[in-house]
Amino acid sequence: MTKRILITGGAGFLGSHLCEKLLRDGNDIICLDNFFTGDKKNIAHLMGAHNFELVRHDIINPIYLEVDEIYNLACPASPIHYQYNPIKTIKTNVMGVINVLGIAKRTRAKVLQASTSEVYGDPEVHPQKESYWGKVNPIGVRSCYDEGKRAAECLMMDYRRQNGVNTKIARIFNTYGPRMAVNDGRVISNFIIQTLQNQNLTVYGDGSHTRSFCYVDDMIEGLIKMMNSDDDFFGPVNIGNPVEFTILELAKKIIQMTKCRSKIDFLPLPADDPVQRKPDITIAKDKLNWMPRTDLTEGLLKTIDYFRGILQST
Ligand code: NAD
Ligand code: UDP
Repeated sequence: MTKRILITGGAGFLGSHLCEKLLRDGNDIICLDNFFTGDKKNIAHLMGAHNFELVRHDIINPIYLEVDEIYNLACPASPIHYQYNPIKTIKTNVMGVINVLGIAKRTRAKVLQASTSEVYGDPEVHPQKESYWGKVNPIGVRSCYDEGKRAAECLMMDYRRQNGVNTKIARIFNTYGPRMAVNDGRVISNFIIQTLQNQNLTVYGDGSHTRSFCYVDDMIEGLIKMMNSDDDFFGPVNIGNPVEFTILELAKKIIQMTKCRSKIDFLPLPADDPVQRKPDITIAKDKLNWMPRTDLTEGLLKTIDYFRGILQST
């Protein structure tokens, strides 16, 4: 049976890939976005399809839609974007999530929340397991996002316990790939654009902090597997690539792959920037039979190609 699927934040980086894949699989897609960080260009190639609808809407306001499943991705993900209007960020994660859960409760739709590794804050446990409660600064510049996403998880669980809503929580770790915005500000898009423009790479701190990078196609597969998993498995589940790199290693790798002449500038580390991050994906492997298949070199090659095309066309 054809499912009608709502994807909030559907015109963003991850949302547009999810729209594309779920549309290709024969579903009816409603893509909802307020275009804060998303772009119509990301979904322009889907617009002619009879089973694709675009709704311009801000999830902090209620909306009435009839759907079978909801992927709630609406929320800026890059630190510069979520810190641009922090009050709006937390409203999106609290009022927005209440509105999304309201649709799920009324229509009995299954709802998957795009949570984040930021719920672990600057972690004292490494790698991070889902059972770890995290170390988050509740009053820092990242808290609009970190505490917002923690509140969103709380709402998912309370609507499940109190109202019987079929909820799922996926904790997404750093993901990259084509359709990241040129002004996104996250590390992989920044470094690639800097090398392609022969600018120096901006490494914050001494480059010894770590992240683990997941290619977008692997992430989309993981999110869909989570949505389609047994109802008694509701997470949270970590979805990410467990291969860890220092930011300096990443910078050198991108310089070498693009064969550019860029050097590295060391700039101050932003406040509360987590020192290390790497997912433990044992649960995703066991419960979803999922693990990432794209290594960093392969994923970077595709992403570099994408940005080369974008920069040439502008
Ligand atoms: P993105 O910024 O490209 O996409 C977010 C989308 O949500 C954009 O299209 C934006 O316009 C839309 N949006 C923002 N606020 C909205 C609102 N109030 N109402 C309606 N639409 C709104 O970011 P992304 O990387 O695609 O991230 C998607 C989701 O995944 C986010 O919820 C993010 O927190 C989560 N996530 C992403 C990563 C990652 O590495 N990409 C990591 C952890 C979590
Ligand atoms: N970073 C960097 N240079 C940049 C952008 C980011 O050194 O131009 C660092 C940032 O300080 C962090 C890591 O790269 O330690 C990942 O940052 P990003 O904004 O991509 O995601 P985060 O995991 O911090 O949300």
